[in-house]
Amino acid sequence: MTGAIAWLGLAPGLAAIPLFNESSRYIDTGIMATALTPVELIAGAIVCAGAAMLPDLDHPSATIAQTFGPVTWGLSKAVNWLAGGHRGMTHSLAFALAAGIGVHLLADAYPIARDIVVVLLVGLALRAIGIGIPGKKLGSAMVNIGLTAGLFVVFQSMGVGYAWLGLAVGVGSFVHVLGDCMTEKGCPVLWPLRARFLLPWKMGIKTGQKFEQKILAPVLSVAIIGLLFWRLGPI
Ligand SMILES: [Zn+2]
Repeated sequence: MTGAIAWLGLAPGLAAIPLFNESSRYIDTGIMATALTPVELIAGAIVCAGAAMLPDLDHPSATIAQTFGPVTWGLSKAVNWLAGGHRGMTHSLAFALAAGIGVHLLADAYPIARDIVVVLLVGLALRAIGIGIPGKKLGSAMVNIGLTAGLFVVFQSMGVGYAWLGLAVGVGSFVHVLGDCMTEKGCPVLWPLRARFLLPWKMGIKTGQKFEQKILAPVLSVAIIGLLFWRLGPI
């Protein structure tokens, strides 16, 4: 959710940078403000929300690792092994930059890789907001795959360009890191430096408790709807 919020807040400004928009369309229209179409803004919010789950792929038993069954579980195992456990390397500014730049270059070079990344991130976003059947791993994966494929086809049919993909991945990953800094364990933001960043005086949020579901999630949902209205509403 914080990923979606960050994107809706930052995207129009960031995506006006020529590198991050569809330059051919910009040349057509000649207007910077239309660098992102409304569907791209929404697609970006979903992708950025998915990217905001990426750092937790270092935790193979997290729900997120089960999004696409063995595919995401295997990915998670690999990330966990590389990162040396939970809340390490993937919870840093360096990871957000590397993921963003890596995806940007990859997407630029290989359209198929770009599409795989988009599908993976949309799937992670849907999983994060709890799309699925409680207690049914296979059923949940199927529902998710169906919905993800549907969204991807809609994006394709509406001419969504993905010049901003790497940007969304970088922003989403970093927002996750900032969010985890608000929790009691904190994050090694400046990895490979070992220092952990967290709120002072043990103010941090305990994760996995009611506060997240009962207060934080509704407040963030309202923020997302408000931002969508602000960006796309008839004002
Ligand atoms: Zn995390």
